[in-house]
Amino acid sequence: MSDVYDIFILGGGINGAGIARDAAGRGLKVCLADKGEIGGATSSWSTKLIHGGLRYLENYEFKLVRESLKEREVIYQIANKITKPIPFIIPHTKNHRPKWLIEIGLFLYDNLGGKTVIPKSKAVNLSKEYSGLLKEQYTNGFQYYDLQVDDKQLTKLNAEDAIKNKARIIENNKVVNIEIFGNFWKTSLEDGQTIKSKVLINASGPWINETMKNIIKVNSNKKIRLVKGSHIIINKLYEENIAFTLQNDDKRIVFVIPYNKKYSLIGTTEVEVKSPDENKIDDFEINYLIDCVNKYFVKQLNKNDIVETYSGIRPLIEDFKEASKVTRDYIFDLNTKNKLPILSIYGGKLTTYRKLSEKALNELSKFLPMNTNKSWTDKKKLI
Ligand SMILES: Cc1cc2nc3c(=O)[nH]c(=O)nc-3n(C[C@H](O)[C@H](O)[C@H](O)COP(=O)(O)OP(=O)(O)OC[C@H]3O[C@@H](n4cnc5c(N)ncnc54)[C@H](O)[C@@H]3O)c2cc1C
Repeated sequence: MSDVYDIFILGGGINGAGIARDAAGRGLKVCLADKGEIGGATSSWSTKLIHGGLRYLENYEFKLVRESLKEREVIYQIANKITKPIPFIIPHTKNHRPKWLIEIGLFLYDNLGGKTVIPKSKAVNLSKEYSGLLKEQYTNGFQYYDLQVDDKQLTKLNAEDAIKNKARIIENNKVVNIEIFGNFWKTSLEDGQTIKSKVLINASGPWINETMKNIIKVNSNKKIRLVKGSHIIINKLYEENIAFTLQNDDKRIVFVIPYNKKYSLIGTTEVEVKSPDENKIDDFEINYLIDCVNKYFVKQLNKNDIVETYSGIRPLIEDFKEASKVTRDYIFDLNTKNKLPILSIYGGKLTTYRKLSEKALNELSKFLPMNTNKSWTDKKKLI
């Protein structure tokens, strides 16, 4: 059976590519297929941050923030060519979170992840440092750091490293059917080819419900909610190499981030959608983002300033809370259909993809002939 893969991965976003890299590096025979380009979906429509998620602390998500901060450090080490630390300013306003709450949050943010080379937070006097950018009432604020990343490149580098370790990566070829064939999973692609594997991983991001129901035909008891997040890109709002974390009146956060030297990236929104393909910004979201920026900045924006927009769909684990409060953590669903394992991945963040990949392989280790059970992706650079 020369053509049987140890693992077939449905989906080449950051999670699929990360698992392919980790698995191929452990000597497993891996095949991955994506209906589009590697990293061409949610994994290139993000806010492009490797971050702990300061605001998740408000929802008491200490475990997620700790793991994300630790991963921020690891990713900075292994992918330093495509990541860079950037200071974020939170202008303080009396109408929003009290000063003491932000101070506690930043203290935890500085310390939860352990040792870091990324600078710590501090208070800033906005009338002195960055004067003229924000409206006069914003005199004080806080500064903390996170990493900016080229999200698509991060995904591609993972796939390329997997290829170096003999993984087969197939792009622009939709998976149309997956069924059991004897002792293996048999995956059929749009172009007619079939692939046999011992283990199946469903990393189809926001398409997970669709692929489980229509392609793999396995029932899952996990539910996800599809929440659209949109960004607008404008010619740069200011020259300084700083980003802003703006508190909006609905308690949500809007980021303004320098982008590709000439632009500012502004996002994001949270709008529930029915389908993973409803990824277009609407007028409500455009106005929401512009209004928030105009509340803070001296320079006023209007729709004509928009150069580009993009939207992605978050597959959030359903826990019946407001979208902004739903966890950004991931969960696994390991199923064995006729003793054949299938691991489905729900939720997640770009930031935690490496740890997620490692945990996925640990979960599947009893089914796989791995050379080593030891994690290795935290030490080897992505080049
Ligand atoms: C607006 C927004 C902002 C975000 N910002 C951040 C951020 O700043 N930092 C952060 O850490 N996280 C962020 N995230 C989260 C992060 O982007 C996602 O968790 C991550 O990209 C999900 O990766 P994935 O591999 O699960 O999904 P995807 O990247 O969507 O990959 C799934 C892949 O499956 C493929 N697929 C689906 N069906 C089929 C099929 N039938 N056959 C073949 N292929 C198929 C798709 O083409 C796709 O490429 C953000 C998310 C959104 C939506």
